[in-house]
Amino acid sequence: MNVTASDIGAYSFCPRTLYLRRVVGLSEPEGDRAIFEAERRRAGRAISLSHPFIMQHAVAFGKGPKRIIEELFKRPMSQEVRDWSLSRILTLCREFSSMADQLGEEEAMEMVSPIRTAFRTGSPSFGISAAIDRLMPAPPNSPVLIRCGDFQSFWENDAVQAAAAAMALEASIGYHISHSFIEPVGAFMSHPVSLDAALREKVLIARAGAERILAGELPSACPHGNPRKCAGCLLEDECYLV
Ligand code: SF4
Repeated sequence: MNVTASDIGAYSFCPRTLYLRRVVGLSEPEGDRAIFEAERRRAGRAISLSHPFIMQHAVAFGKGPKRIIEELFKRPMSQEVRDWSLSRILTLCREFSSMADQLGEEEAMEMVSPIRTAFRTGSPSFGISAAIDRLMPAPPNSPVLIRCGDFQSFWENDAVQAAAAAMALEASIGYHISHSFIEPVGAFMSHPVSLDAALREKVLIARAGAERILAGELPSACPHGNPRKCAGCLLEDECYLV
């Protein structure tokens, strides 16, 4: 069975989340907040995939965040998401200007330019497929997974998901990847994930667990025993009804 890196990350966070979403078919509750979050995720992802565009317009053309946002987003957006996007682009403009001052425009542009963006990869030998948001040249062929949402810290499942994606990619390109990165939307700083033996083992264990869940195994209630995870879970109301 093919399992996605996202399934592996979900299992690693909470096997019940994977069961509720992928087996029962529950989705996040609808409402104004959910619509806002979906729009913000789309905008944040577009910003994160457009670093070279933003650098070129901010540094080479000297444009401000308001001009950049008009050229980046052709479709109308709500005022709330526009304000949120403006603050992200403003931060990136400052980061990129400072990089260009230190390194020169050409080198700074090389540093933010991916080899590829938004593509799928897969490894038949591991039975893992993954969506890679960006592939950066340094360290050689490092995949970057863009993480949407507001969060102060990463859970271990984020590292497991990033490692699963990197393992799928390295099997398909045929050589070793030492690091992948997790990047909060609209940020330039990425969090490195070192693909050591222990993390690779966790990926394979989570992959086997995810496969069992997708085949219909019912996970126990609150399998991780961590109330902080449940407190931020949008499926909490439905979780104990299943
Ligand atoms: S409420 Fe808790 S146990 Fe239930 S799916 Fe969410 S994180 Fe898992």
